[in-house]
Amino acid sequence: MKKQSGGSFSPSFGGGKGEASHAIVIDLGGTIIKIGLLLGTQLIDRTEVVAQSASGLKSQLPELETTIDKMLCTNRLSAKDVLGVGFSFAGLVDSVENRILSTNQKYDDGPDTDLVGWAMRRWNWPLFAMNDARMALLGEWQHGAGQGCSDLVMVTLGTGIGTAVLIGGELLIGKHFQAGNLGGHFVVNHKGTVCTCGNVGCVEAEASTWRLPSLLKEHPEFSKSPIHDEKVLDFKALFQYAEKNDRVAAEVLDHCLSAWAAGIITMIHAFDPEMIILSGGLMKSSAIILPALQKKIDRLAWTPWGKVKLVEAKFPDSAALYGADWLVRSKLKTGK
Ligand SMILES: [Zn+2]
Repeated sequence: MKKQSGGSFSPSFGGGKGEASHAIVIDLGGTIIKIGLLLGTQLIDRTEVVAQSASGLKSQLPELETTIDKMLCTNRLSAKDVLGVGFSFAGLVDSVENRILSTNQKYDDGPDTDLVGWAMRRWNWPLFAMNDARMALLGEWQHGAGQGCSDLVMVTLGTGIGTAVLIGGELLIGKHFQAGNLGGHFVVNHKGTVCTCGNVGCVEAEASTWRLPSLLKEHPEFSKSPIHDEKVLDFKALFQYAEKNDRVAAEVLDHCLSAWAAGIITMIHAFDPEMIILSGGLMKSSAIILPALQKKIDRLAWTPWGKVKLVEAKFPDSAALYGADWLVRSKLKTGK
């Protein structure tokens, strides 16, 4: 990681804070925002608020302030007891200046929002921001499925597909903070569908929550399948019908699994990990997803040293919170 630039936070913040040992962590997802309080790597309190991601980030900050103040009050803490804030965000993030660089249909005013100034003015806390897949990777690496590993790829299968990479015990960041983050936008079909990012045939454009309804409707036998009568064409329905041996559902599911496998194989070829950690809402169906992906990857990936293990995240719901806590403590300790 690059050196923390001057001005992002004052090392003399809150003089007399020698006793501060807590961290506040915020994980901004597309549908919910998780807020946690950690003490010595233990998550001692957490709460959630409904995200209004389509309305932007700035309009959400007053509710975050109220929620955090209430959490401090409940735990009989004051601002002086907190070391800093870890801010996990679903978009591209400059983790040196701690600002949002780019969004994709969520919190689109993020790049114009001064998060560091917000936390400093409100509580006199330093704020450290990072992409949410990287935060989840840090959490799983330090406390979860990736403990003891030095080379990991994290893949979150949810509304979109988030990815992050650890090589030799260091997060892959890149010149413009996007290295390893755009695995969901690796091209797996150059003649495929236009993606929300503007590219063509991305993994997300071939298999994701937003793509699924059109994927089903494009199947030539869709109108003959009972899934046609479902009000909501989501992955829950797809898995249900595929398990009942509905041919349309089974073929669309296999298409999705092949697209995810293609994206993961490209990540394996690019980043040489020892393990892939899978997380995200779709892992509720991990009993179907994991063995199917493992089979495809074992067959297709070029790894003469052995097989890359696919594992389920240990903390699918809170890895980003643990990661954000680790980031706050690590940045304050090392200053970089
Ligand atoms: Zn894309």
